[in-house]
Amino acid sequence: MSASDLHPNLQPMFEEVLRRNPGESEFHQAVFELIHSLTPIAGKQPEYIKWSILNRICEPERQIIFRVPWIDDSGAVHINRGFRVQFNSALGPFKGGLRFHPSVNLSIIKFLGFEQTFKNALTGMPIGGGKGGSDFDPKGRSDAEIMRFCQSFMTELYRHVGEYRDVPAGDIGVGGREIGFLFGQYKRITGHYESGVFTGKGLTWGGSQVRTEATGYGVTFFAEEMLRVKGESFDGKRVLVSGSGNVAIYAVEKVAQLGGTVVAVSDSDGVVLDEKGIDLDLLKEVKEVRRERLTEYAAARGGSARHTAGGSIWDIPCDVALPCATQNELDESGAIALVANGVRLVAEGANMPTTPEAIRVLQDAKVLYAPGKASNAGGVATSALEMQQNASRDSWDFESTEARLQQIMSDIHGRCVEAADEYGDPGNYVMGANVAAYTKVADAMVALGLI
Ligand code: GLU
Repeated sequence: MSASDLHPNLQPMFEEVLRRNPGESEFHQAVFELIHSLTPIAGKQPEYIKWSILNRICEPERQIIFRVPWIDDSGAVHINRGFRVQFNSALGPFKGGLRFHPSVNLSIIKFLGFEQTFKNALTGMPIGGGKGGSDFDPKGRSDAEIMRFCQSFMTELYRHVGEYRDVPAGDIGVGGREIGFLFGQYKRITGHYESGVFTGKGLTWGGSQVRTEATGYGVTFFAEEMLRVKGESFDGKRVLVSGSGNVAIYAVEKVAQLGGTVVAVSDSDGVVLDEKGIDLDLLKEVKEVRRERLTEYAAARGGSARHTAGGSIWDIPCDVALPCATQNELDESGAIALVANGVRLVAEGANMPTTPEAIRVLQDAKVLYAPGKASNAGGVATSALEMQQNASRDSWDFESTEARLQQIMSDIHGRCVEAADEYGDPGNYVMGANVAAYTKVADAMVALGLI
């Protein structure tokens, strides 16, 4: 990942990103992947790099960092840091989730906001890109502590968001409960019921059917499209889904509905291998209702399930792997193990879960590989459907909303394939996704003048 690996026309742009954003390794990684994919454009269509368009795209429109003080149940005071990076609004209001996790820092939020910009462009919906969050750790916190944190966070963030301005949603550590507390505080402060300021809301207060399921269902629909191109389907496939949060749970559900068997899931403590197939009802009960660890799943499931503390899920033989946990979770050794065990397809449910070295291993071995900005776009696409319903004061049923999601994933897949074909590397979903998304954002930015 050095500037010298890039087309000469593109090297100065990456060098400038390194210089302006020292120490932000995740952000560098996301930018490098995009710029590397632009090689065919750099030679043939230099109009896409003149007017410093690439430099402007790599610079967020606005970055907000703020203090979040709150009091825990014992009366102790805590200080966390809040972030919102409003990356690009050429295609629509800033749009992207909030992440609450102790690893959150500016580099992580910037890489996520950068990825979000191109992911959102690929959906074909009118949404720009942004991301936010905090280094707050929700693990083990009571509902009252979560509420006080969310209220304090929103007391600063409210002035930067709005239906036409910036529309946050969930991400790791932020689900329906947190969106409720955040939206409730926004409503109190502003004094109006602005449904379209948040997505991922509850179904009785402006939320959309399928939003909860959307990212996990979406990555599975995308993988199904990839298999279809090869004349295959999920039927009879043995599947790994890393993680056990919202994305993973609904990927497990959809894979099972399409005839595959998910044999393993994971959390930060280890891996559960369940040769009979993951019991979805039990997984939901443990993770969504009881908010417990996978060790509890294994204990309750008994016989067929085995928990390995600290193990790597990628050592388990499979046909399809869906990394649905977090960034850089699938490294080179994981990819080598997957390839050695005969994996056919890897599609990302998480954001940037595969390291650059691991991507190279998969691509060299001719494994079908889809980057998250294409394959996990179903979540934010369904957020855009939620915004449509809010704008028209309507709510759609589950079946028609799911059909819209499936069509959107098929269209995104089509855009990636078409761009990869057009620019001379058929089957390269990384290049296809990046070129299709970049040209869309760049065209809009050029049309809007020097912004
Ligand atoms: N956090 C999700 C993502 O990474 C969803 C964002 C949204 O719905 O705005 O795309």
